[in-house]
Amino acid sequence: MPFFEAKGIEKKYKDFTLSASFSIEEGEFLSIIGPSGSGKSTLLSLIAGIEDPDSGTITIGGKDITKERIQKRGIAMVFQDFSLFPSMNTERNIQFGMKEKDRAKRKELSDKLLEVVGLKGYGKRDVSSLSGGEAQRVALARAIAAEPRIILFDEPLSALDPPLRKHLRSIIRGIHDSLGITVIYVTHDIEEAFAVSDRILVMRDGRVITVKDAEELYRKPDSLFTAFFTGEGTALPAHLAFENMEGSIFFRPEEAEIAEDRLSPEMYPRHLVLEECKVVSADFSGPHYMLGLSYKGYPVLVEASRKPRKADVSVKIPKDSVLILP
Ligand code: ADP
Repeated sequence: MPFFEAKGIEKKYKDFTLSASFSIEEGEFLSIIGPSGSGKSTLLSLIAGIEDPDSGTITIGGKDITKERIQKRGIAMVFQDFSLFPSMNTERNIQFGMKEKDRAKRKELSDKLLEVVGLKGYGKRDVSSLSGGEAQRVALARAIAAEPRIILFDEPLSALDPPLRKHLRSIIRGIHDSLGITVIYVTHDIEEAFAVSDRILVMRDGRVITVKDAEELYRKPDSLFTAFFTGEGTALPAHLAFENMEGSIFFRPEEAEIAEDRLSPEMYPRHLVLEECKVVSADFSGPHYMLGLSYKGYPVLVEASRKPRKADVSVKIPKDSVLILP
């Protein structure tokens, strides 16, 4: 039996219906991604108990919590806007949901958690004096202090600058690894989802369209939607590459390689060779060039270490990196 399970949960609004089933193992880090309006926040609200589903069940450790009050679910939440209590100092914020009643032990625990999130000695600070990154670390410590069975994160880093986001996401993942907490993490930042998650759930139009291991989701997406939502790539009608094949072929820019000399497909039986690609653009990003090519009128993206000198190039992609998608 899975540690957490949402089974056939449905929530209908006037113009939107969410219907989802998925499960998580204890200690797993699952991210939820999807376009804006796909139902990520609604799903999180149903799990947390902020909203009630119209049907379906939610269980934790085999216990049905679908009708359980928020406070009784054993779920802590970390929000984008930190939601700290302004009238309490930093350590009182952390101690807020603690089960421990003894004052000295509460203090000891909040000091330890401050150290865990890298804020040793901040206990007496007024929360209004904290920077965004510090406030989010306090919110994280407060969530852990409540000893929840699951921590839900709702876009926790969206309000922070990019370098700080990277730093904090590694703190969150590090704490998850050392404490073995079960995490459900909503983000619109795909790179962030890849960096922190064990598995990633993709939502579209109120439905769960796939749940996969993070690396597998990137390398072996099962639809063009997921492929393009999780990164860049090239989609071509499959019959252009393989005779009589239906659907599309898809490959990532880093799997493809350009050659300025004409390549003959016979010499590369393990590769898909696209001959006579016109170079349309070459964008330098620092580590590499992203080349925009045109093959029989279709756009093709290829990563390259240098800019081609010729206007026409060939492209080769290992066949085992080429996906056939419906
Ligand atoms: P996401 O978090 O992926 O951006 P949301 O879960 O916020 O998506 O919203 C999904 C859809 O549900 C949107 O079309 C939104 O307008 C609708 N929705 C969310 N909450 C409510 C509500 N309380 N009443 C009516 N419609 C809602």
